Amino acid sequence: MSSEELPPRESMEFDVVIVGAGPSGLAAAIKLKQLNADLNIVVVEKGSEVGAHILSGMVMDPSGLDRLIPDWRQDSDCPLKTEVKDDRFYWMTGSGAIRLPNFMMPPLMSNHHNYIGSLGQVCRWLARKAEALGVEIYPGFAAAEVLYDDKGAVRGIATGDMGIAKDGTHKDSFTRGMELCGKYTLFAEGARGSLTKQLIAKYSLDANSEPPKFGIGLKEVWQIDPSKHKKGLIQHSFGWPLPNNTGGGSFLYHYDDNLVAVGFVVHLNYDDPYLSPFDEFQRFKTHPSIRPIFEGGKRLSYGARAITEGGYQSVPRLTFAGGALIGCAAGFVNVPRIKGVHNAIVSGMLAAEHVAAAIGAGRANDELVGYENAWRSSPIGKDLHPVRNVKPLWSKFGTILGIGLGGFDMWCNTFGFSLFGTQSHAKPDRKTLDAAKVHAPIAYPKPDGKVSFDKLSSVFLSNTNHEEDQPVHLKVADMNLQKTSEHDVFAGPSNRYCPAGVYEWVEEASGPRFQINAQNCVHCKTCDVKDPNGNITWVPPEGGGGPNYEAM
Ligand SMILES: Cc1cc2nc3c(=O)[nH]c(=O)nc-3n(C[C@H](O)[C@H](O)[C@H](O)COP(=O)(O)OP(=O)(O)OC[C@H]3O[C@@H](n4cnc5c(N)ncnc54)[C@H](O)[C@@H]3O)c2cc1C
Ligand code: SF4
Repeated sequence: MSSEELPPRESMEFDVVIVGAGPSGLAAAIKLKQLNADLNIVVVEKGSEVGAHILSGMVMDPSGLDRLIPDWRQDSDCPLKTEVKDDRFYWMTGSGAIRLPNFMMPPLMSNHHNYIGSLGQVCRWLARKAEALGVEIYPGFAAAEVLYDDKGAVRGIATGDMGIAKDGTHKDSFTRGMELCGKYTLFAEGARGSLTKQLIAKYSLDANSEPPKFGIGLKEVWQIDPSKHKKGLIQHSFGWPLPNNTGGGSFLYHYDDNLVAVGFVVHLNYDDPYLSPFDEFQRFKTHPSIRPIFEGGKRLSYGARAITEGGYQSVPRLTFAGGALIGCAAGFVNVPRIKGVHNAIVSGMLAAEHVAAAIGAGRANDELVGYENAWRSSPIGKDLHPVRNVKPLWSKFGTILGIGLGGFDMWCNTFGFSLFGTQSHAKPDRKTLDAAKVHAPIAYPKPDGKVSFDKLSSVFLSNTNHEEDQPVHLKVADMNLQKTSEHDVFAGPSNRYCPAGVYEWVEEASGPRFQINAQNCVHCKTCDVKDPNGNITWVPPEGGGGPNYEAM
């Protein structure tokens, strides 16, 4: 059946449509209802339930939540129970770990009075708050298409059709998607949103900003031996096992009842196509100072997600007729602090204020210029501006010198000046890979099954599930280019950067064949960022598919 022959979609009208039930989308929904209880608001979420696709560290700076729900500490239902008590930074070498004195850290890096927990659980709690205020939340529905009016303004989104077979035919279960239309649509898809990417291109929202930058963050939650648990301890490290020219580092947070969140971030502007972020993470846990923490413990879950790293200079224009970008769709992560949740919440609230005022004034489907004009002088701009050079200096000068210069610049910014102006990020992450011939394959240690593991047993712990008989949601624009470039020039880096074993080059008599195990995809979006030719596009699979994180 061609698209012209498809039955028409049903359409529903709302005041505001929100795409994504992460902290930014839910904060926007709650704030809108706080400002005007009569507004009709809908939130669509591609995860099977709210929180199912949420992955974060997570140490939260409570400044955003304090603004949204000032009495959250008194709410026994709120899942944030562990306050940070001890904050440590380490420089790792292969055999040792040197602790950096806290007094060397610029004050804006302090984690005191922050809280440790699961962002997925926080989102479930925020969703209950939003629903209690009358917000409609539809989990299991991916926004697959942006709808435009005849003047080119956004008028809403359409959810994806369900029940399409792998070969494109319609199964008995075929159901047409829904059109959800609003006076304004807020895009809260998080890092590398699939619709956000289209909007940035359509409206040239990045015309005056630096290229977006990303990292891949891998995370596990462990239950460890109670005698080793230090509730409230958080530690970050940089250095080993990454080479000096590759940015990234670890996080390790002790919280709740004997839980430890351990994770590793690799900046996606690395140059070695043989590097495997997953294997670097597994290797990190074998360090003599880290292994004992996990020995005798139980790994409960695993997942991965891209994190935005471009910061202040990479934030695109936030608004266009009929809608706006909020949270990590805009890229509001403070990179040296690895924190974006507070800014996601504040951006949702800020956008909500402008939407509520516009609707109150009888406006609809025009540009919320006030929101675009407000963010730089808001708490978000004040948080991101002083740290804007940390990532570019790290990329330019490598870890040892780059972190030193970044720290120096953050100290200068504490006193209101910078010697570096605003540094450029140079090129997008997909353009930083070298040809494989200038590197040698990396021999990663075999997983020991105790503290380090292989990809497939890890993906099992993400509870990832997709309807198998559906079109592949990882779209390769040109298969020939994939062979002549991704395989022949770069030696197939997709097999290594993908944290879920989705991509494989299978050697056959007729030559190498690119196999896509789409059902394993944990929706991290790394392939959409790092494919050297920009040849892979991630689009939402059937709603509800993907990981089912319980408490990431
Ligand atoms: C490994 C890692 C560690 C981090 N650690 C911390 C930390 O310790 N502290 C901190 O403050 N920040 C941390 N961050 C950053 C933080 O997680 C983000 O800044 C924050 O989650 C952004 O919130 P958001 O609402 O913009 O997007 P997200 O939290 O990504 O939520 C987006 C939601 O939208 C849904 N969605 C996306 N596209 C669609 C679609 N088309 N249709 C329907 N639904 C859709 C997704 O399923 C998801 O539920 C970390 C990030 C990573 C990856
Ligand atoms: S296929 Fe792409 S989005 Fe899915 S897990 Fe692999 S890198 Fe991430």
